[in-house]
Amino acid sequence: MAAPEISIIAPLYNEEESLPLLVERLNAVMESFEKEVEVILIDDGSKDRTPYMIKALSLTDERYQAVLLSRNFGHQSALSAGMRYCNCTEAAFVIDGDLQDPPELLPQFYEKYEQGFDVIYAVRKNRKENIVKKTAYHLFYRILSKISNIDLPVDSGDFSLISRGVIDVLNQMPEESRYIRGMRTWIGFKQTAFEYDRAERAAGDSKYSFKQLFKLAYNGIFNFSEIPIKILTWMGASSIAFSLIYLLVVLIKKVFFGGVPEGFTALFLAIVLFSGVQLVSIGIIGEYVLRIFFQVKKRPLFIVKEIIKSQKNVFKASISSPAIPTLTNETGEVPNIDIIQDKDGAGI
Ligand code: UDP
Ligand code: MG
Repeated sequence: MAAPEISIIAPLYNEEESLPLLVERLNAVMESFEKEVEVILIDDGSKDRTPYMIKALSLTDERYQAVLLSRNFGHQSALSAGMRYCNCTEAAFVIDGDLQDPPELLPQFYEKYEQGFDVIYAVRKNRKENIVKKTAYHLFYRILSKISNIDLPVDSGDFSLISRGVIDVLNQMPEESRYIRGMRTWIGFKQTAFEYDRAERAAGDSKYSFKQLFKLAYNGIFNFSEIPIKILTWMGASSIAFSLIYLLVVLIKKVFFGGVPEGFTALFLAIVLFSGVQLVSIGIIGEYVLRIFFQVKKRPLFIVKEIIKSQKNVFKASISSPAIPTLTNETGEVPNIDIIQDKDGAGI
């Protein structure tokens, strides 16, 4: 396969149900698109059949490449792995593996790329999630956009077409707690929005646990905003000003009017209130220190267990399942994918 102009990157975590449809739709997109396209599928430590399925696929179809991570590293790290291993010369199309981001939009995104944009990011016109999630997303993007250091577009996820140059820059950014949509904006270059209707999941449930979503939102706030720590400074300064004024009032009262009550309640309240302020302050400072701590360790963002590229003429795809092939060798057996050998006899 000649060097592909476009790479489609899709991270997958337990997506065995949506995968056949994803592959079918990707094949259709590739067949109708005039550019050379490769697909990088990243298995983010799935516990279902996803890694076997993408292995089989990449062994039989040279347009596909499978990157298997050694465990579940999370969506953002899986995406980073995809960006690291894509070979496109022009741009990478980043989509979710559950078909919520329609791959058929590639030609329209590409049009914008041809007009000279480096980043074409998708903006969701509507959402298909339940009302609670919808409201949470809505509020989060608006609050973050208000408090962040950079001009973060609202309702924009990772779905985007990113030029090779920007992919190279992203690959050079070593930051550990990744919030790719923020990093993508921070980089600059020529960016434009592309509005689309977010589809429903093709199959299964969201693979983002509440904890992971919370972590993503958290990373968004603490990596792209100084506001939390600024609020602290203001809170501290206001408390000092308030207590000084209060002291003055009490002193005046004592000197000129007398009878200042020995207020236990006020004292108690003040202690509790200000211990609270201090605890919150320490927590927020800790949040930034924690980031420094993880960053200085310079751990890799992900660990690749295996990369599978097509090995032509070794395996034939069975015709019964056009999207995800069943592997057969020359004698017609269906070998266990884990122990199949390549041409040179090396384990795959
Ligand atoms: N995903 C992943 N690792 C994870 C969680 C999710 O690679 O730990 C993938 C998932 O398979 C999907 C994409 O990231 O292709 C988006 O996840 P999901 O659809 O679950 O998120 P949602 O759309 O619900 O926000
Ligand atoms: Mg999804």
